[in-house]
Parts: sequence; C-alpha cells; structure tokens
Amino acid sequence: MKILVINCGSSSVKYQLIDTETEAALAKGTVSRIGMTGSVLTHKPHDRPEIKVSGEILDHIVAIEYVVSILLSENHGVIKERSEIEAIGHRVVHGGEKFSDSVLITPELMSELRNLIELAPLHNPHNIRGINACLKTLPGVPMVAVFDTAFHHKIPAHAYIYGLPYVMYKRYGIRRYGFHGTSHKYVSERAEQMLGKPLSELRLITCHLGNGASVAAIDRGVSIDTSMGFTPLEGLLMGTRSGDLDPAIILHIMAREELTLHEANTLLNKHSGLAGISGVSSDMREIIESAHEKHSNAKLALNAYCYRLKKYIASYAGVMGGLDGLVFTAGVGENSPDVRWLSCENLEFLGIKLDKTKNNQVVGKEMDISTDDATVRTLVIPTNEELVIARDTQRIAQAAAKA
Ligand code: ADP
Repeated sequence: MKILVINCGSSSVKYQLIDTETEAALAKGTVSRIGMTGSVLTHKPHDRPEIKVSGEILDHIVAIEYVVSILLSENHGVIKERSEIEAIGHRVVHGGEKFSDSVLITPELMSELRNLIELAPLHNPHNIRGINACLKTLPGVPMVAVFDTAFHHKIPAHAYIYGLPYVMYKRYGIRRYGFHGTSHKYVSERAEQMLGKPLSELRLITCHLGNGASVAAIDRGVSIDTSMGFTPLEGLLMGTRSGDLDPAIILHIMAREELTLHEANTLLNKHSGLAGISGVSSDMREIIESAHEKHSNAKLALNAYCYRLKKYIASYAGVMGGLDGLVFTAGVGENSPDVRWLSCENLEFLGIKLDKTKNNQVVGKEMDISTDDATVRTLVIPTNEELVIARDTQRIAQAAAKA
C-alpha cells in the first residue's frame, strides 16, 4: 500500500510517500516558509537527486497541491496517478485522554480534534489545517490521525498527576500526556529485535534527543513515565525550550520584566534551553564545537543538557526497579558521541557502561555501543516516526475498508 505521511507545522509541511510492502520511502520532502516570502519545496525521490522548487505557497492547501504535483511529475515523481496514494497518515500532536490508538478521520473526529485545540494551541491547529488541505486536494482518500500522545496513554495516575488542586485536572485536563510517542514506540520495538528478547521482558529507557527532546520509561512494553508533560515544554533541556523549571520563576520574571502571556511563552519556548544558556545556538553541533573551543557558556549548556538527561535516566531506572536497555535516538542521540558519553558517565552502578571506541564510531546507524560486560545494553537506533505513522495508517484504513 502506498501511504502519504503528512506532518504539518505552522509554516511547513513534511511528507513521505511510503510503500508499506517494502517499508521504504519512495520520496520525501518539506514545504517550508508557507505563507511567507521565499516559500520552497525540497523534494527527494529515493532514486534521484534532491530538487528545490520555489513558488508562492500561500497556505497549506497550496502546499499539499505542490506535494501531490511533484509526486506525480514526470521528472521528479514516483507515481503516475493520484489514485496510487491509497491512504494518508497525519501526525497529530495531541490526542488528549481519549485517544489510546490511531483513528480513522471522519467528520465526527474532526470536531473532536477541534475540541483538543485547547490542550495544544501551538500544534493541533496546524495538524487540522493539513487534514483539511488533504480533504480538498485528495478527496475520498482514507485518512488516519496518529497521535504523539497515544503511546503514553497507559502512564499511571500517580505519574501523570501534578501537585495542583485536583479540580484543575478535572476542569482543564491538566496532567502529564507525553509526546514523541511514535518515536519512543518505534525505537522500543527495534530494541526488542536488537536485544532478541520480547518487550514484555524488557525495562527500557528511550531518549529522543532532537530539537525537542524527551525520555520515556518503557516497562515491559508500556510507557509508564515520560519527561514531557502537559505540553512539550517540560523535562529535558532542549534546543530552545527550558524544560523543567521552578514554576515560580516564570511568575517572578513576568513580574520583573512586565511580560505578557505571549512574551512569557516565547521566552520559554523559543529563547531558552541550549540557545538561552549558551547565547551561541540551539544546534547541538555548534554547541559542541564552541564548547571544544572553550566557550564557557556553550560548555555550561552542554553540561547542563547532559546532567539533566542523566538525572532522568537514573530516576527512570529507579522507578522500574532496574534497567535492561538504554536507547539513544533522533538528531542528537543518533549523532553525538559527546552527549551519549557525558550523560552516561557515572551510571556504571546501574550497569550502563559505554565502549568508548564504539560510541565514537557510531553516527546515525543502529548499533550496540556498550562494553561486552555491561549488564545494560546501550543502543543507538535511528528513529522512523513516519514508518510508524504509515504502519498505523495501513492497519486502520484496511480495517475500515473491511467494516
Ligand atoms: P527535529 O526535532 O527537528 O526532528 P532532529 O531529530 O533532526 O530534530 O535533531 C536536530 C538536532 O540534532 C540539532 O540540535 C542538531 O544539532 C543535532 N545533530 C545533528 N547532527 C549532529 C551531530 N553530528 N552531532 C551533534 N548533534 C547533531
């Protein structure tokens, strides 16, 4: 089955056309700067070079039309007819408490998704825009919503509740939801393969370290805790997000700097984290380069990032009563020996022991980087969120066709 996987942001659409028989991407790309000057479509067919197409891409509908046209184009396309796109899988950030699995998109579901905007005002509206754009451009093609939160649906109440009046949970749904679910799910299933043991016998910690970053404790196949919370702002120090803070700090800064809600939100989401501490960049490569050149705040940012990650790893091993596997994934996790090394240092007492040579060799490929005598296997596993979305989309679209 050929499945178009769509991930819509405020000004971007990322896409992949995946053949679920081979599980390979036939083409992938991004439309960026939607609604701005300099909109561009970057497209890479699996067997030909990447190309860039500039155009006036005013909204998500035009963006999806560009995507479909390039997939069909004679020189750069990978399909001949629109009808070859058999289903569309949409990444939807927030599924609230209701959705524990991916679901077929119907008019009723769209109204439920609109209700969820309250929980994820920064993300869900763009996801909905992408769905509407596909409804216009590819009418009649079955579509499935795949939620970032669904994999964390079984987190127990003692781990998802915050220390606030309980009425806040009842009234506003304030609780930990967790995100990056498709990635944590994918790498935990790959770890099962690599370790040759069923998930039901494994205690895993998965570290998704991209621009956004989160850790999950996966106890015998079930996510029982994760570092992102009510929103993707909690937890690890990230590229531009603060992660965990004393909540009183923000009240204090808002009062001292006379910030509006919007400004405070921007401060926490866009100007904090690695970028905020270092003053250099939100990009881990530049942080590491500057840290090696003895830029003191870049070094501080790197150390704070790894220290926070180490605290999460140790605490999740604690709540699971031990650990069998530790997984690093996403841009930083797959590519940075420094981050892996620094965040595992001193965790030998848990059984985590990295082989320095292996760790230094591994960039962007699957590998076990622990020493032979380590009791916890530390794995690097490139993530593939799009494949999880494609698999779910196939499963749900086929079940709906049979019903
Ligand atoms: P996104 O969350 O946007 O999908 P990615 O998973 O692509 O992000 O991760 C982006 C991060 O990965 C950036 O901070 C980037 O610096 C980092 N990264 C990519 N390659 C390397 C590398 N070789 N060493 C260190 N960090 C890297």
